[in-house]
Amino acid sequence: MIEINNLTKKYKTNGSVVQALAGIDLEIPQASAIVVEGVSGSGKSTLLHLIGTLDKPSSGTIKYNGEEILKKDDESVAEFRNHEIGFVFQFHYLLNDFNAVENVMMPGLIGGLNKKESYDLSCEMLGKVGLSKRLSHRPGELSGGEQQRVAIARSLLLKPSVILADEPTGNLDHQTGSEIIEIFFKLNQEYDITIMVVTHNTYVSSMFDKKIVLLDGQIVNEN
Ligand code: ADP
Repeated sequence: MIEINNLTKKYKTNGSVVQALAGIDLEIPQASAIVVEGVSGSGKSTLLHLIGTLDKPSSGTIKYNGEEILKKDDESVAEFRNHEIGFVFQFHYLLNDFNAVENVMMPGLIGGLNKKESYDLSCEMLGKVGLSKRLSHRPGELSGGEQQRVAIARSLLLKPSVILADEPTGNLDHQTGSEIIEIFFKLNQEYDITIMVVTHNTYVSSMFDKKIVLLDGQIVNEN
């Protein structure tokens, strides 16, 4: 469960101030799937970054199961992020010189798992996204949708409770994009992972039951 109260974020650049978030209140129950819509500049990425503990708010609070993680020291915040939050972006940032399973293993190796544990877990996660037959393919040998599935498997490796995805289908055709969203729904339903997806795509958005719409850093519609 994530509880957001009166969250604001101001960016200061060259003497001017941009109010990216202007008082967000939101409750995200565990195991929900929620889409975030809004025009460019409305604050979607900022909200996702704050929920992902990649940045700190100017004011307001975010509680994860009742706990204000952002009040902790940087190391504790990083550990929380590594274990609880998975990120998927429009550009998947896979490493081209490494094959699918090696790419998925990376957070495991960084997060302290040994090589065998990381390898086994990576194969399992690639299985969950339907890529058991592509373990030794490099990103350049995979389709766009397959590359994004590798990125999803990588985000799953340390069994996060939340996956935050910023325009995960932005680079994909309609059919492939729908398949990616279906994978998120499967993870949501089978493993109770909370899924939060930012998108511009109205078709992707229509696939979700719960939606929030941002404008000028505020929630203007929620259903
Ligand atoms: P969206 O994801 O909806 O396009 P963002 O959250 O990226 O919106 O941006 C919200 C507002 O904050 C925009 O006006 C943007 O220019 C500004 N902004 C975002 N990141 C920064 C930053 N690092 N420094 C200064 N301004 C920023």
